[in-house]
Amino acid sequence: MLALTSPRQLLRRRMPQKPCFTGRAFNLVSANFISVPLIVEYHRPESLAEAVELLQQPDHVALAGGTVVNADRNRSQLVAVDLQSLGLDVVSREASRVQFGAMCRLSEVEKQCSGDLLAEAARRELPSTLRTVGTVGGTVAAGGGESLMLAALMASGASVRTVNGGEVSVERYVSAPSELIVGVDVNAEGAWTIEHTGRTPMDTPIVAVVGRRSEDGITLALTGVGTQPVVARSLDDIKQLIPIDDFRGSSEYRHHLSVTLGERVLGDLS
Ligand SMILES: Cc1cc2nc3c(=O)[nH]c(=O)nc-3n(C[C@H](O)[C@H](O)[C@H](O)COP(=O)(O)OP(=O)(O)OC[C@H]3O[C@@H](n4cnc5c(N)ncnc54)[C@H](O)[C@@H]3O)c2cc1C
Repeated sequence: MLALTSPRQLLRRRMPQKPCFTGRAFNLVSANFISVPLIVEYHRPESLAEAVELLQQPDHVALAGGTVVNADRNRSQLVAVDLQSLGLDVVSREASRVQFGAMCRLSEVEKQCSGDLLAEAARRELPSTLRTVGTVGGTVAAGGGESLMLAALMASGASVRTVNGGEVSVERYVSAPSELIVGVDVNAEGAWTIEHTGRTPMDTPIVAVVGRRSEDGITLALTGVGTQPVVARSLDDIKQLIPIDDFRGSSEYRHHLSVTLGERVLGDLS
């Protein structure tokens, strides 16, 4: 005899057991909420000191917008330390100098820096729904080699404020990520341009060159050449690069794109 199961019965079988709350920590494993646990415990500290203490423990990761953390299916047994109650979402502005709290969303960058390179890079980084989720701090900490937002910050000479009062350039932080980021400061001024090549106009570029002219000269930052964006000050710097190689483009092809796009950006800004 066939045993028929109604949709309602199926739903009941898949319903989780009663979730278990322990103060602000919510244990998802004992709650049997998901079959393959990724984030197994969740904390929402209310002070920086509490956040730092939690983040010193094994497998504890900072959770900002979560667009990278939640999308990473290779990791498991993470303990999320959510940064949303730390008051890090404040923006302050003095003329063209903008100070973003680490939890400012990319949609805020788009709004604050309208017409500037940073707004254009934020717009190209993620679709509009995810721009309201992804944060400035998360973008820098993730250090993605294809991140136009990160390249724009590097080309603009942006700096990172860390939890212990330190300040380092974004370029330096990305090469050796250390403490929790509390803010990112940048001058949103000076002529700029972006040149890129991708499979379609709005696809993540295979290679992009972002350029900004400031009183110190022209600074370029390239995506799609390494595991992190790379800063260059001249065409010679670009010619020295040995780009990465993957299914979207060989190292030789990426080198050719870098030089060609770099020439265009330098031509535009000179
Ligand atoms: C499906 C998908 C996959 C993506 N994959 C990548 C990717 O692999 N690499 C990439 O660069 N971009 C990736 N992006 C782009 C990414 O969404 C943006 O870089 C985004 O702005 C990240 O910010 P977030 O707040 O969501 O970061 P989160 O996912 O919250 O955090 C990203 C990383 O930064 C750390 N972190 C967050 N905030 C801080 C802080 N204040 N101080 C110190 N560390 C912190 C987290 O622990 C984590 O390691 C992806 C986007 C999508 C939609």
